[in-house]
Amino acid sequence: MLTVRGLHKSFGDNHVLRGIDLDVRRGSVTALIGPSGSGKTTLLRSLNGLAMPDAGTITAAPSPAPDGDAHGDVARPGRRDPLVLDFSRKVTKQQRFALRDRSAMVFQLHNLFPHRTVLQNVIEGPVQVRRVPRAEAVSRATALLERVGLAEKCDAYPHELSGGQQQRVGIVRALALRPELLLFDEPTSALDPELVGEVLAVMKELADEGWTMVVVTHELQFARAVADEVLFLDGGVVVERGVPERLFRDPREERTRRFLHRLL
Ligand code: ADP
Repeated sequence: MLTVRGLHKSFGDNHVLRGIDLDVRRGSVTALIGPSGSGKTTLLRSLNGLAMPDAGTITAAPSPAPDGDAHGDVARPGRRDPLVLDFSRKVTKQQRFALRDRSAMVFQLHNLFPHRTVLQNVIEGPVQVRRVPRAEAVSRATALLERVGLAEKCDAYPHELSGGQQQRVGIVRALALRPELLLFDEPTSALDPELVGEVLAVMKELADEGWTMVVVTHELQFARAVADEVLFLDGGVVVERGVPERLFRDPREERTRRFLHRLL
């Protein structure tokens, strides 16, 4: 679905991404792990055009339109041509928007609009950005909220929810956009420990349903259980990558070993 080659990004003198290659297969879960400051979030943000790399390419494969209902086309038209962003040349605003359109991001926390109800938060994107008719957006949002056990919270405000419930709304808000790719930026790191499980459970369900996901996470057990591929980043490079079973059991690189040893 996505092919990333030779991605570089600096903030001033800080060379944060130093030649990242990444392949995201449709229906796969990719976990990005590594110490704080290693460039995970910057890489994730590059995948949806929120961060602008200085060099390298991101190629998004042609995409089928979501099937199911008559409004699928309005929400996200399919694309017959690959999308190629070459950051060493000029990348247009349209290309960035086209890339962003394909994915939806779930952030750490506190990104719900505080003065809007849960339902209003969820339909905002589909209605404003994707031009889905309101009634259709409401019916989809309600179904999604039901799925994550929050049907009765439709009219609640974010501050009336627990952190775990807020984060499940954040996930529903991303799903409501019907993205091809779900990006998670440490979705549980701001939660109290007892609330982490309910959010990871929803993410696991999505993975089982075949969603394509890229997840920045400190939850190594989750990465181990759910990811198809794990990338260990340190200092802006992918030090090691592989299937979790192998990478966690038998890391080849000393840096990976030290990192895992500290956390597991
Ligand atoms: P990680 O997600 O692995 O913790 P980040 O990608 O968030 O790493 O950050 C990598 C480095 O880039 C850090 O040194 C951070 O301070 C820097 N950085 C990230 N975003 C910005 C920004 N918008 N402006 C300046 N520096 C940034």
